[in-house]
Amino acid sequence: MLNLSSFKPLILPALENSLPKTFQELTLRNLSLYDFQVDSNQSGEVAALRLEAEPRLPGIILTEEGHISGMISRQRFLEYLSRPFGRELFLKRSLKTLYEFAYTDFLMMPGDTKVIEASSKALQRPTNQAYEPIVVEIEPYVYRILDVHHLLTAQCHIHQLASNLLHELYQELETAHQKLELQASLDALTQVANRRRFDEYLAQQWLQMSKQQSPISIIMADIDCFKGYNDTYGHQAGDKCIKQVALGINQAVQTSLKTNKENLVARYGGEEFAIVLPQMNAIDAVSIAEQIRSHVKSLNITHKASVASKVVTLSLGVATTIPQLSSSREALIAEADRALYQAKIQGRDRVILS
Ligand code: GH3
Ligand code: MG
Ligand code: MG
Repeated sequence: MLNLSSFKPLILPALENSLPKTFQELTLRNLSLYDFQVDSNQSGEVAALRLEAEPRLPGIILTEEGHISGMISRQRFLEYLSRPFGRELFLKRSLKTLYEFAYTDFLMMPGDTKVIEASSKALQRPTNQAYEPIVVEIEPYVYRILDVHHLLTAQCHIHQLASNLLHELYQELETAHQKLELQASLDALTQVANRRRFDEYLAQQWLQMSKQQSPISIIMADIDCFKGYNDTYGHQAGDKCIKQVALGINQAVQTSLKTNKENLVARYGGEEFAIVLPQMNAIDAVSIAEQIRSHVKSLNITHKASVASKVVTLSLGVATTIPQLSSSREALIAEADRALYQAKIQGRDRVILS
């Protein structure tokens, strides 16, 4: 009696496996499709038994001499059976009779229709048909039935994946951007801030301090007799020395500033460093400069060619101001430079306040 063409749910291939790689390319073929066709000359009882046996089956494809002649959804079928005398009227008669009575359009799409396109078409149907199953023609004259719920689940999944992917891409971009920003502001040899970052930071802090009418200090530090160092130990050793001194300056500044105070240590150029100290008066800045001087000297880097000492030393110039509308950053740098020059002519290895 149950001489039906065939019935088996096809899961081709698991949605989760194919989605991440090709989720944009996902087609109806990749979804769970039910293979259930009945010749429309068969009785309604045949369909009723199969729908009862397989609760997930969304509907029945009706064929006539092997060709599709209609589709009747589970919901509609059960609805007709539940009408007065429905069982008597429809179970014994052919499905064709029922279908002619209950005729509705059905949506049929080729198997290679993209999920995104299919769900849009499915939802464009009149409201009372929007959740009717869809017929998928996987090959010419080979039909499967698709639960619209599965289609919409796949669509949600795609949407979710796409937005996750976008979010990840955005985060990667953000991280790359931050990395680039950081790299662009660091000196390659010493890994302290470069001249560009120094200019930017000083401009920022200058504005801030002028608003607050707070002092800002600059220390210019220059390695003593460095030409002689290069000549004696070679350029590579010179580079290594600049790196050690940069690290030493940074350590001294960070340990002197106990309360995480704003500051910037930058390589100003060659063997010269600049330290920006916002909200710092001249006395405190001189004290920091002195700690830098003694810390770098205590690194004990031998320097036979120096006229100032037996080890590598720094000369430092300090300048402080409360920024005014009429004053300029360049003038403060020039003042610190003049103080540095004074330190050099007074014998090097010392701190001079402008
Ligand atoms: P002073 O005590 O007056 O500062 O004397 P100095 O010899 O340090 O001053 P000068 O400006 O005559 O020489 C600075 C030297 O620093 C010259 C240059 O070769 C060297 N120098 C600048 N940048 C680098 C660098 O990146 N690596 C190395 N190895 N040497 C550098
Ligand atoms: Mg020098
Ligand atoms: Mg110099």
